[in-house]
Amino acid sequence: MRLRFNIFNLFGVGVVAAFLAIVLVHSNLVESTQDAMERSSRFDVAWVGAGGRLEAYALQKSLARYAVTKSPGDAQQVQLFTDIVTGRFGIFASPTFEEFLDAKASRRDQLTEASLRFKRIVPELKSIENVSDDRISVLISEFETVLRAIDRVGAEAHSESVNHADAIRRELHEKQSLQKWLATSLFVLIALLLGLAAIQNYFLGKAGKKAMRAARDFSYLAHHDNLTGLPNRMAFNVEFEKVVGRLRRPGAGRVAIFAVDLDEFKAVNDRYGHPTGDALLKQATLRMSETCATFENSIMTARLGGDEFAVMMSVPEDDVDAILDQAETLRKALSVPYDIDGTTLVVNASVGVKISAPDRDPSNLLIGADIALSQAKASGKNRVLLFDPSMHDAFIRQALIQSELDNAIENDEITPHYQIKVDVGTGRVVGAEVLARWTHPTLGPVSPAEFTKIAEQSGQIVPLGRKVLEKACRDALRFPREMGIAVNLSVVQFVRDDLVRTVREVLDETGFPAHRLTLEVTESLMISETDRAVEILSQFREMGISVALDDFGTGYSALSYLRTFEWDELKIDRSFVKELETDERAGSIVGSIVSMAHQLGIKVTAEGAETPRQIEILRDAGSDTIQGYHFGRPVPFSDFPAAVLQAVAAAARLERHRVPQQSANLSGKVARLH
Ligand code: C2E
Ligand code: CA
Ligand code: CA
Repeated sequence: MRLRFNIFNLFGVGVVAAFLAIVLVHSNLVESTQDAMERSSRFDVAWVGAGGRLEAYALQKSLARYAVTKSPGDAQQVQLFTDIVTGRFGIFASPTFEEFLDAKASRRDQLTEASLRFKRIVPELKSIENVSDDRISVLISEFETVLRAIDRVGAEAHSESVNHADAIRRELHEKQSLQKWLATSLFVLIALLLGLAAIQNYFLGKAGKKAMRAARDFSYLAHHDNLTGLPNRMAFNVEFEKVVGRLRRPGAGRVAIFAVDLDEFKAVNDRYGHPTGDALLKQATLRMSETCATFENSIMTARLGGDEFAVMMSVPEDDVDAILDQAETLRKALSVPYDIDGTTLVVNASVGVKISAPDRDPSNLLIGADIALSQAKASGKNRVLLFDPSMHDAFIRQALIQSELDNAIENDEITPHYQIKVDVGTGRVVGAEVLARWTHPTLGPVSPAEFTKIAEQSGQIVPLGRKVLEKACRDALRFPREMGIAVNLSVVQFVRDDLVRTVREVLDETGFPAHRLTLEVTESLMISETDRAVEILSQFREMGISVALDDFGTGYSALSYLRTFEWDELKIDRSFVKELETDERAGSIVGSIVSMAHQLGIKVTAEGAETPRQIEILRDAGSDTIQGYHFGRPVPFSDFPAAVLQAVAAAARLERHRVPQQSANLSGKVARLH
């Protein structure tokens, strides 16, 4: 490009120079021509010379004739030509002819002499009738000399003039050919320039097309996601604006937005690495595109970022149920296990749906769909949820909680509470479950079920979990030695944290003995992270920590999970315990779970026992320990001694004969806690 410009500059300079030269040569030529014309018109030396010769010959002729005829007519002729030749000598004296004479000294001498000679015979020539015959002969010979001089000078004038004209012609010819040459060069240069311009035009055209293509490519890249090739958020917004424009017209239909998100995508990325995450996204995209292609009302599928997708659909005939069915079809398609390079990944999807209302501004549909999606995730994932205005408040609350969590963790606003576990056989308090509590300055008490879920979604569960464990270990160092603590762990901590290291560090830092610590995990960990979970849990056991399977009786509650790991403890969920008094079968189910667990050497704790009857049934079913409001609610560290006494008292009421021993022992021990 740069080279082409240089050539152009060079040619441009050439053309301008040639043009200037032509102008100069041309004006010079015009000047020379004018000069020559002027010179020839101003004084034609040859003509003056030739005129002189003719006039002298005419005088000689008339003189010779008069000598023969002596007629008065011929005498008149002689007198006339004498006057003419006299006049001619006058012309010879004009400055321009003088110039010619001066060019050669002999000319002037000859002519001066001829002029003198002539002047001498002029009086006789003028009165030739009175001149004698002899004298006429003398005059003829005298004039012969004059004539010769005039003839020679006239001949020279002629040849001089011819030479001069020749020189001028040659000069003009040279200048004309130079002009012709320059003009030809100019034409060649112009032709070359035009040729180059055409070439440049061609290249410019090509470059223009390339630029257009690049602009189109750029626009494509700007509007499409690199990884999946789907339209991106920008393209989605552009399309959405168009659709919104149409929707504002009266009688326009309705539009639905699906906000789609893969439930365990972050875990896949963290655990298997980004290449696997990318491959999963590509497969998920393909499924979305294929599924949406079967929907006649689908407008656009886009990837908004990460594992967030959005689908825009028109709502034919206001059929909201049909739209929800389509969302469900999409969710199911995305939840079929994925095969990525031979690894089977079970990844579910959640879908939030928002449908435009006829009299409402449709511009915040995507936000609504997003809110519905976050609610779908918060309420168990793997589901489709239609936006409901109440979700908006829940969403705001959730966002507020998430934004306040960091501070709360940092400033020790989240503190462990302790719920006592009682050994039903002995009526003794064997320990407590650690349950996080947070009282927010404006929101008031926030349930751990709420904030741990939010913290799991944001990853804040990692620092939160560590903080709770640390504080609980420090607190529990001041509990009676026979009492242990049970700390809850979230699946997310297994995925996102180096949990073994964290627990080891906390135990080292606090000095809390590992054998007094139980870690509680739910079966969801065993579903999604079996191998990794078993590996980590085994390391805990090797460290002397007990491991409990929490919430048994919810979810799948497959007894097979009991065999996947050497659990120390199984915690039967409150939902089971609640049924005990009303449903006889619940008792026998608990019985079989307990005996199965015991056969495998696993202790059983029942959670959520609120009544003496429930406790009785649980004890009869073989449950080892019981935890529930009947023995006490979760309390802060400062209330723990009192809670222990209350729990022992409650147990005593159930088992009067065992009460005094532990009550007496404990009263002393817990009193020292303060
Ligand atoms: P969870 O591990 O199943 O904890 C037992 C829950 O049952 C506690 O609720 C406890 O207060 C409640 N509970 C115990 N006995 C009774 C009873 O007799 N009646 C009734 N109605 N409820 C009873 P809480 O403290 O609200 O905790 C809820 C959930 O939050 C916990 O369920 C646990 O999954 C989670 N959580 C609490 N603290 C932590 C924590 O530090 N880390 C993690 N990862 N999760 C935590
Ligand atoms: Ca628990
Ligand atoms: Ca539980």
